[in-house]
Amino acid sequence: MDFQMSPKGQDFLKRVKAFMKEEVYPIEEAYYRELHSLDNRWVVLPIIRELKQKAKAQGLWNMFLPEEEHGGAGLSNADYAVIAEETGRVFFAPELFNCNAPDTGNMEVLVKYGSEEQKKQWLEPLLAGEIRSAFCMTEPDVASSDATNMKATATIEGDEVVLNGRKWWSTGIGHPDCKVLIFMGLTNPEAHRHQQHSMVLVPKDTPGVKVERMLRVFGDYDEPAGHGEVSFTNVRLPKSAIIKGPGKGFEIAQGRLGPGRVHHCMRAIGAAERVLEQLIQRALSREAFGRPLAKLGGNPDIIANARMSIEQARLLTLKTAWLLDTKGILGALSEVSQIKAVVPSMLCTIVDQAIQIHGGGGVSDDFPLASAYGYARSLRLADGPDEVHRALVAKLELNKHRKR
Ligand SMILES: Cc1cc2nc3c(=O)[nH]c(=O)nc-3n(C[C@H](O)[C@H](O)[C@H](O)COP(=O)(O)OP(=O)(O)OC[C@H]3O[C@@H](n4cnc5c(N)ncnc54)[C@H](O)[C@@H]3O)c2cc1C
Repeated sequence: MDFQMSPKGQDFLKRVKAFMKEEVYPIEEAYYRELHSLDNRWVVLPIIRELKQKAKAQGLWNMFLPEEEHGGAGLSNADYAVIAEETGRVFFAPELFNCNAPDTGNMEVLVKYGSEEQKKQWLEPLLAGEIRSAFCMTEPDVASSDATNMKATATIEGDEVVLNGRKWWSTGIGHPDCKVLIFMGLTNPEAHRHQQHSMVLVPKDTPGVKVERMLRVFGDYDEPAGHGEVSFTNVRLPKSAIIKGPGKGFEIAQGRLGPGRVHHCMRAIGAAERVLEQLIQRALSREAFGRPLAKLGGNPDIIANARMSIEQARLLTLKTAWLLDTKGILGALSEVSQIKAVVPSMLCTIVDQAIQIHGGGGVSDDFPLASAYGYARSLRLADGPDEVHRALVAKLELNKHRKR
């Protein structure tokens, strides 16, 4: 394994770190204060648009995308992983570099599988950061950790595809710039189970698309992006809105997985580093029973264990990125699932311990830990639950022995 960043990757990292230091950390608190003071938080504050322009002007843009011909930075997964960690230290920072989920995954889908027409209509404005998108797969009525359960329909009728059904946890759908959705629906129940579904590009303002409500994560709407429940009622679109053609939904979903999971995990590792810093600062700056909290009871062990678990998680994630670069998704199947089970749990544990060290303040809004916990805990579900990732790791492990 070679974890040495390329000179180009090192240059981007240096510039991203400088941007975070000069532009992002100084406004972080004020950003949340202003957003939380508003009655309507489903807005983009001017500072976000301003910083996006600055990052773009400095070329710190679309760094997640390897394809230079589409305006990507031409970085390997291993190079970008380290940059994603840096941006993950502040919750809203990835958007400033046009490197935020779910748009990154949706852009990757369009780069890889979109028609020329789809690229022109949707990929270009997404890459320019002018619009945002959502990914609508999970359904309230079926256990969606098994994607073959999806029962919303994408029925072909002549030259059209007609969508019906209900989705939820569609992240980003509340954002004022969200203009397009990728909808996964059942097209042919008779086909092989992995060829039944299609992915369809749906302009958000198409008649029949209705955001029924926004969902709260532990009481928090995560504005301005949010997570919505959306109904699709006789939504009619030309057949050309289907990505790669009918029945290709699973193939696309598989292709979307690898790099996106590395990005998610490295951002979570960045968040864990930040939370550990906050834990330590608090533990050193407060005293109880005549000593700093850092020296009391099992607290030194908590700090040491947090450091060790971050390092382990980072090494595993970098290994996964390196495997994706050198062997492709098929060479990294187990590791991609391993990181999804390991990293969010690691972050959850560290946030939980940071809350404990902060005492009552830890669960209040005065510190960013309660919302960090919501983010960390959701990550154990958002890309599929831990158990599904473990099931794949176990299956691949058992297969090795069966072959012998
Ligand atoms: C904050 C957040 C953001 C999200 N963003 C999106 C998004 O943008 N787009 C989208 O489409 N979806 C999104 N999701 C949905 C997410 O992908 C699903 O919640 C997840 O795939 C699980 O599906 P489910 O909720 O239907 O749970 P279910 O499928 O009902 O599973 C419930 C539980 O069953 C157990 N289980 C399931 N399978 C197994 C197994 N093989 N072995 C053992 N136990 C098992 C697990 O404990 C699991 O948590 C998001 C979710 C959250 C919380």
